[in-house]
Amino acid sequence: MNYDEVPESMTSSGPSGTQSVRSEFDFIDSLRQRIEKVTSPHSSVQIGIGDDAAVLRPTQGKDTVVSTDLLVEDIDFRRTTTAPFLLGHKALAVSLSDIAAMGARPRWSLLSIGVPSDIWDSGFVDKLYDGLLELAQRYDVRLIGGDTSRSPDKLVIDSIVLGECNSGSAVKRSGAKAGDQVFVTGSLGGAAGGLRLIERGAHLPENKAGADFHSIDRLLVRHLRPEPRVGWGLVLGQEQLATSMIDISDGLSSDLNHLCTESRVGALIDSALIPIDQHVAELCGRRALDPLQLALHGGEDFELLFTVKPNMLNKLPKRVDGIGITRIGEIVEPKKGVRITEGSRVWELKPGGWRHF
Ligand code: ADP
Ligand code: MG
Repeated sequence: MNYDEVPESMTSSGPSGTQSVRSEFDFIDSLRQRIEKVTSPHSSVQIGIGDDAAVLRPTQGKDTVVSTDLLVEDIDFRRTTTAPFLLGHKALAVSLSDIAAMGARPRWSLLSIGVPSDIWDSGFVDKLYDGLLELAQRYDVRLIGGDTSRSPDKLVIDSIVLGECNSGSAVKRSGAKAGDQVFVTGSLGGAAGGLRLIERGAHLPENKAGADFHSIDRLLVRHLRPEPRVGWGLVLGQEQLATSMIDISDGLSSDLNHLCTESRVGALIDSALIPIDQHVAELCGRRALDPLQLALHGGEDFELLFTVKPNMLNKLPKRVDGIGITRIGEIVEPKKGVRITEGSRVWELKPGGWRHF
């Protein structure tokens, strides 16, 4: 029971005098039936949605890797510039990215939502779960629970993902050593470019949100529908190819600094090697935005940044799930700091990415 309902709990109507047609219990029940319909029973989930807690049977010889991400409306997303399907996708994607960055396989998901009453009655939440479940199914991740409550006027989403990796082999931020080569998956700056375009009024039509992405501007998609690099995370972790790893959520400059701080090393990055998103290079260049700045400091690309020992370089696959990697520099002694070269100039690469406070 919620505290603000107590005075009115003796009456038949809710706190505002009107009660939603659908209770959260109806919602949870329909969610549960839906999951049972689309996913076959799995021995790892002894008890899923419907009890007081989920019961998991972890794989022998594996470590459990857990991550949680909070998405707050008007801080982490705007309801007016995304679609519920995309938001559900993104809520899970950001957590899958964290699990990938540990070199682990994502397996179970929990989603807790605080929902304003006007959204509750609009079908928004069902579409949000459509987006989440579509991505979950792609990676064989099971939704095993969550929590549902009301919030005064902003939507709040907390996504938890649990994964597994071989015992003792999670890839940490802290394993980089001088001489290791620095790599990123995919390309950078696309999500930030997409956000800038959204801020200038670009948007996706809602009815196209679930399908036919080919016709939609790739930059908006990079921001609104990030693809976690689950395959790369698994390969790098399982084959023990990466000495350290982090996902690029805040921006390359910030996340490289996080990795270097944890590893107590410096890094030297070559700006000419940074794989700038091709659409950013084209579109943003014309809009007086500096593509390199977006690639360095724009967050939310959810690419993986990792380091590899020189003697392991020939073991790296060229592509995983169609996504390539690019060497952007190397790890150096800590006293040299984190620096970037542009032609003959060298400067300190200060963290310039997203900050909540
Ligand atoms: P409790 O009051 O004990 O927290 P709930 O009625 O909230 O129980 O939850 C019942 C079941 O439904 C639990 O298995 C819980 O994990 C699941 N559940 C509740 N809300 C959600 C949600 N938003 N998404 C997924 N599962 C949920
Ligand atoms: Mg609950």
